[in-house]
Amino acid sequence: MDTAAISEESYSGTDLASASNGKFRVVVIKERCKECGICINVCPKDVLARSSDINSKGYHYTIPERIEACIGCRLCEINCPDFAIYVVKEGSQ
Ligand code: SF4
Ligand code: SF4
Repeated sequence: MDTAAISEESYSGTDLASASNGKFRVVVIKERCKECGICINVCPKDVLARSSDINSKGYHYTIPERIEACIGCRLCEINCPDFAIYVVKEGSQ
């Protein structure tokens, strides 16, 4: 199993699911996700998947399950209609 650990954390009261491959961190704002699957479908590297857990609205939010493959293209971020996922270049903060 080469799946990177998904970090489940809370930042200023917002529950996040994120993972990093050292170059890019993909962050999901769990409560905003409505499980539409757009990000999963547009990711060219098959990084994203539905969680087995659900958010308070009953949706299986997206998780960056195979973060090691992420190339930082931001297609997930650009195409999410709910601003629920974003990409951070590590070391850029
Ligand atoms: S595109 Fe946005 S709302 Fe849709 S599954 Fe992905 S993170 Fe969730
Ligand atoms: S930045 Fe690109 S490669 Fe990384 S998870 Fe988003 S769509 Fe996939």
